[in-house]
Amino acid sequence: MIYDFNYLKPGSLNEALSMLSEHKDECKVICGGQSLLIVMRQGMVAPEYLLDIKHVKELNYISFDAKDGLKIGATTTHRTIEKSDVIAKNYPVLVAMENKLASIQTRNWGTIGGNLAHADPAGDPAPVLISLKASIKVGGVNGERVFPLDEFSVDYFATQTNEDEIVLEVQVPVPEPKTGAAYQKFNLLDSDMGIVAVAASVTLNNDGTCKDARVVLGNAGPVPLRVKKVEELLIGKKYDEALFAEAGKIASEECEPVDDIHASEAHRRHIIGVLTKRMLKKAWDQAKA
Ligand SMILES: Cc1cc2nc3c(=O)[nH]c(=O)nc-3n(C[C@H](O)[C@H](O)[C@H](O)COP(=O)(O)OP(=O)(O)OC[C@H]3O[C@@H](n4cnc5c(N)ncnc54)[C@H](O)[C@@H]3O)c2cc1C
Repeated sequence: MIYDFNYLKPGSLNEALSMLSEHKDECKVICGGQSLLIVMRQGMVAPEYLLDIKHVKELNYISFDAKDGLKIGATTTHRTIEKSDVIAKNYPVLVAMENKLASIQTRNWGTIGGNLAHADPAGDPAPVLISLKASIKVGGVNGERVFPLDEFSVDYFATQTNEDEIVLEVQVPVPEPKTGAAYQKFNLLDSDMGIVAVAASVTLNNDGTCKDARVVLGNAGPVPLRVKKVEELLIGKKYDEALFAEAGKIASEECEPVDDIHASEAHRRHIIGVLTKRMLKKAWDQAKA
């Protein structure tokens, strides 16, 4: 059952931010409603005010340039990202990830800002975006802040956003030359939330050694987890199956997965090891091509 609330529909970003500043902790932002309405229906969240930002035009955009990279406004839907030519050309891993996120219906409603703000550790976009070194811009009536996306989630369903701030934009730098990126989630039903997931990106030097790498785990702890031990291990190394196996072993040890009805902790650790090995190999192969 959904409890009564006051519905606020701002006509602009400024209006949205001042409404939020006025009502703060009595107010919940809603965009696509794909996550919020579920917890409202369960009675777990019962805000006095619902601030609907779905139609705030200033937050609905995708832009790209070769210097600053990609910028995606918070209210951009998953489906728009999936269908974007500029993203397909410059960040194909994002399109592949979106293609496996929920159903088309959910992707038509759900937004990138809502997904990241919801901070479900099983969410698909965050690990991929973190592997691409993305940042997030949040803002309120007192100004804007930008920080690395890997610092955004602080716990299960909790972020650094203050109660008078909303997510405004995701920023993704232009990948360096000789960079590859790959993502896979392990799930039992196609396009369902992942039981675990792994995103990897690899950048190579001209001599084929690893210049930089990121490995980010989804649903393997309270927040998307960067496995820095693996990232450090890879730098300066050459393509080597044994190296990928070692990386998988470290990732399966470093993660903090739960034991629940979907999978045991041990099974999750095993799958993380396998996917880490596979995603690193896939990203490296792409970087070489
Ligand atoms: C059937 C189903 C399957 C799903 N499968 C997947 C899946 O496979 N992978 C996956 O990642 N997700 C999945 N989801 C989750 C869902 O698609 C996303 O979390 C969705 O992107 C949320 O976006 P939204 O705009 O609908 O957010 P809402 O539901 O409107 O809001 C979610 C939360 O974010 C807050 N919020 C929304 N926008 C902002 C903003 N701009 N700034 C600050 N706070 C904001 C709200 O207050 C709320 O707390 C699934 C959902 C459903 C219903």
